[in-house]
Amino acid sequence: MFGPPGAGKGTQATYLVKKFNLYKISTGDLLREEINKNENLGSKIKSIIDKGLFVSDEIINNLIKKILLNKKFEGRLIFDGYPRNLNQAKELDILIKKNNQTISCVLSLHVDKDVVVKRILGRQTCSKCGGIFNEYYNPATKENHKCDEKFMKKRSDDNEKIIISRFETYLEKTLPILNFYKDQNLLHQINGMAKIDDISREIGDIIASIETWLYILYLYN
Ligand SMILES: [Zn+2]
Repeated sequence: MFGPPGAGKGTQATYLVKKFNLYKISTGDLLREEINKNENLGSKIKSIIDKGLFVSDEIINNLIKKILLNKKFEGRLIFDGYPRNLNQAKELDILIKKNNQTISCVLSLHVDKDVVVKRILGRQTCSKCGGIFNEYYNPATKENHKCDEKFMKKRSDDNEKIIISRFETYLEKTLPILNFYKDQNLLHQINGMAKIDDISREIGDIIASIETWLYILYLYN
């Protein structure tokens, strides 16, 4: 599952996990898990992250390798925020083939830059009830939210410049990966600016048709 920050890929990945009984793997989660184990690798990762540096492809690839060897995940994996560059994508291909598995589908949520900016900058959460709103797309009103306005919080670390730079970095790093999958006829481009439910339906239909195909192949093998 690909998409720039603010594309809603977490929401859609979570939807797919529930609907199709999948496991969502994000490298962020894998790294946090490793750090919590408090072993050698974990403390190495922690010191890299603490310095504000990127964890090497080698470390990421090794963590992914462990996941692919785990039978529990076989045929039921959805990667979120991975692979992050073409090198990781190529390594994933090799690892997947080695484990007799396949990538059946690559989803990319497309969102325009100005929409991403408004989605992130407009995000508001209520510290009392946990309600999530957006001042541009889903503003809190007297009808949909009862708490006092003073509980509404905006994330202060997001400013427009940072959001745009993250968005551009994403495009720059991800475009070659998407082309790599497009050449393999795996890429589905999704309009990430449609309504959340409509996006879920669209990607749900894609996965359902793949599951049908895999089932037919299974029957004839
Ligand atoms: Zn509230």
